[in-house]
Amino acid sequence: MRPSFVSRLVNGPFFDPVLYVRIANEKRAVMFDCGYFQTLADRELLALDTICISHAHMNHFMGFDSVLRTVLHRKEPLNVYGPEGIIRKVLSKLQSYTWNLSSDYALEIRIHEILPGQVNIARARAAAGFALCSEEVVPRTGALIAAAQRYFIEAVILDHAGIPCLGYALKEPFHINIRKGALTKKGYKAGTWLGKLKSCILAGNTGQILRVKTSSGDREIPAGELKEELVVITEGQSIAYVTDIAFTERNRSALAILGKGFGRLYIETFYLDELRGLALRRGHLTAAQAGKIAASMKAGQAFPMHVSPRFHDRMDEIFAEMTGTCKASPDGIIH
Ligand SMILES: [Zn+2]
Ligand SMILES: [Zn+2]
Repeated sequence: MRPSFVSRLVNGPFFDPVLYVRIANEKRAVMFDCGYFQTLADRELLALDTICISHAHMNHFMGFDSVLRTVLHRKEPLNVYGPEGIIRKVLSKLQSYTWNLSSDYALEIRIHEILPGQVNIARARAAAGFALCSEEVVPRTGALIAAAQRYFIEAVILDHAGIPCLGYALKEPFHINIRKGALTKKGYKAGTWLGKLKSCILAGNTGQILRVKTSSGDREIPAGELKEELVVITEGQSIAYVTDIAFTERNRSALAILGKGFGRLYIETFYLDELRGLALRRGHLTAAQAGKIAASMKAGQAFPMHVSPRFHDRMDEIFAEMTGTCKASPDGIIH
């Protein structure tokens, strides 16, 4: 299956957790948390449509300035999602700079503050020196917080040592598979039209005529006909991102709202279980607890992240604890 989401932990399992997810066939990406990072190229930052912040501890939020610096001159807005207080915190960052020469900049920052039963949305434009331009309150039910054509995002409010911390899921509505054998049999040649076909199917726009490259030259064929000939629909891909939470009943019940059967779960393994008392007090998970959550969320692969520096030379034990409930694989945990 050709992946729709191409995800990577920018800093690996160590240091600040930053998960970058490229949306295939689109020049856009979603990032989960935004602490210190060095290895994202400018083109990757420019592709960012959305940043989902779990909470505003410095090591999850300080990289926002680096993103802002790179996207400052673009036209497309930047969406930021975060827990209670995120509007004030993002505005504070924006307003800490001088903007007397930005009146012709097009960038707009849309900040979405996720609260129980509602989302507060604030807009701030570079042209206005990032002053608050508008604010609205939108009711919400369930976990859905954002929807685009190729993906949607869900969030649940968790507890991190007394502050709200969001757990996220990135999901694909359904997955479109192209049957390679059928492609060859029909004499069609792969090209950008396949991406357009997927967009038409996702938009329900199967009446659109597409220009298809074939071995006997270009042909114009309705998307609906191509769908019948070439496409198999399967369950959509899904990724969950969970960090900075204590292993409490309340947090585990809230996580259950995100559902089960994730293709990939990125989850903090801050401590080894020998420090589970400290983990509870500081609102973190041990590797053993993360493994249990991975099992209960039925994650296909679980990737440990945000390992405390005190355990960086004990990664084999982190994996061993995490795999107490799972079977190990080189790049994650497979059940
Ligand atoms: Zn934290
Ligand atoms: Zn943290």
